[in-house]
Amino acid sequence: MSAPSFPAASAAVRPVIAIHGGAGTLSRGQISPEQAEAYHAALHGILEAGQQILAAGGTALDAVCLAVKLLEDCPLFNAGHGAVFTSRETHELDAAVMDGATLAAGAVAGVCRVRNPVEAARAVMVRGQHVLMAGEGAEAVAREAGLAAVSPDYFSTEARRQQLHAARARHAGAVLDHDGAAALAGRPLDEDRKMGTVGAVALDARGHLAAATSTGGMTNKQPGRIGDSPLIGSGTYADDRTAAVSCTGHGESFIRVSAAHDVCARMAYGGATLQDATQAVVHQALPAIAGTGGLIAVDRTGSVSLCFNTEGMYRGHARVGERPQTAIFRDEPLV
Ligand code: ASP
Repeated sequence: MSAPSFPAASAAVRPVIAIHGGAGTLSRGQISPEQAEAYHAALHGILEAGQQILAAGGTALDAVCLAVKLLEDCPLFNAGHGAVFTSRETHELDAAVMDGATLAAGAVAGVCRVRNPVEAARAVMVRGQHVLMAGEGAEAVAREAGLAAVSPDYFSTEARRQQLHAARARHAGAVLDHDGAAALAGRPLDEDRKMGTVGAVALDARGHLAAATSTGGMTNKQPGRIGDSPLIGSGTYADDRTAAVSCTGHGESFIRVSAAHDVCARMAYGGATLQDATQAVVHQALPAIAGTGGLIAVDRTGSVSLCFNTEGMYRGHARVGERPQTAIFRDEPLV
């Protein structure tokens, strides 16, 4: 990519990484402390891996790509292995990555054979010719880059199949809404209502920002539907002059408000702080069109925002030299 790098914010920044594993409706009473602990442990381990890259002087881009790859590989989250099903009982995965230093970006949509869609997104970015590749063309880029390929059923898990069947049954029924009910056992957020995208944002020691997002999309989505995650500016954005942002939620709403870029625009044009900008997008712009979900963001000074308008969001952050902190529910402090 030939674009020049923006000057780094400051040589003295403390590197930090933040991750999310999806936002959704709470079903706290239905899980044991051990089950919640499994999510905390997964988030902690992945934050530590990203933290190590940053501590060793690695780039924000490498840290977010590794964190999202690990989240994809973890079946607890709806991305990569463990991704949700389309209405046709297939998988169509979307992912994006963006480098805030150069505004280089890459994304894939509707892939079902590359094992780690975030690596395919990075391969698109590295090639530099296009930003967003879909379907067979995206798979070809992944193949040419030598990325690991899998059979589509690698992504399937029994839990996700049950979710699809539950979603279908609900559509057939007369009851339109039973908020918070019917959680599948052992999952802190109601899996039928959880938006399970994964994402990471980071600031490295050189003051550069990066963001990455990956998803199976939404359970029972129509084949061919593409959400916000692979759309640069909607579900994913990074710009060294402002912030790196990764979103999770009802993708159609995030697309309509250009959520990730809106955070950066409010900072760039309106002088908003990261906290003010993320709050405005998540608690004003999205609710104005009934959009549910959340986002994680880090700015050029290392300030972090983990912001959502649902009852929970799997989330956490880790500064170099500090223990990672994670949380699931809205009223829960980071631990
Ligand atoms: N935003 C994703 C999509 O609409 C779903 C999610 O966040 O879980 O595809």
